[in-house]
Amino acid sequence: MIPRLVVASKNPDKIAEIEEVLSGLGIADEIVRGLDWGDVDETGDTLEANALLKAHAVVEATGLPVVADDTGLEVSALGGRPGVHTARFAGPDATYEDNLNLMLATLDSETDRKARFRTVVALVFPDGVEILAEGSLDGVIVSERRGDRGFGYDPVFEVEGRTLAEMSADEKNELSHRARALRALAAAVGV
Ligand code: IMP
Repeated sequence: MIPRLVVASKNPDKIAEIEEVLSGLGIADEIVRGLDWGDVDETGDTLEANALLKAHAVVEATGLPVVADDTGLEVSALGGRPGVHTARFAGPDATYEDNLNLMLATLDSETDRKARFRTVVALVFPDGVEILAEGSLDGVIVSERRGDRGFGYDPVFEVEGRTLAEMSADEKNELSHRARALRALAAAVGV
């Protein structure tokens, strides 16, 4: 059990999901909130590299063990893109809406709608020890948004007939790529 663990994200949507899942896993006694650190440029070529970049930067800033995640949406018809560039699909300052609209427009006349969310989580300790784990979720990109929960691409990502934005937070945390990655991390840590 890690006494005090920091979640290396400034995205409140992600933090909520990570904290909720971690609280059920018994990895940490306490999730430390309220700390601050400089923005970390996600310059890596892979999800693994970016998760490690974020985790190491926040370990440096806080002196505590840190968990960081990086997520990509891999769309079959786009040869696995946008992948590591998912947050910037519609440009460097793209909003959730910009990205989602561009995805719908890009796949407009496409019949292959298969897609996969993939999350890599990195747990890094102040002594430099790193543990990586990943989780993925297969689904399809629907042609019109449905649901108003979740964040990012959730309104257009459908799993077994419902988009992630049509699921409750508990339902999404049961099956999501992020939850699967965190459960794999807990297994790797040995809890
Ligand atoms: P990052 O991991 O913060 O770099 O996120 C990459 C992109 O994927 C961002 O545009 C997020 O909005 C999106 N994203 C990450 N996780 C999810 C999710 O669980 N559902 C929908 N979109 C997500």
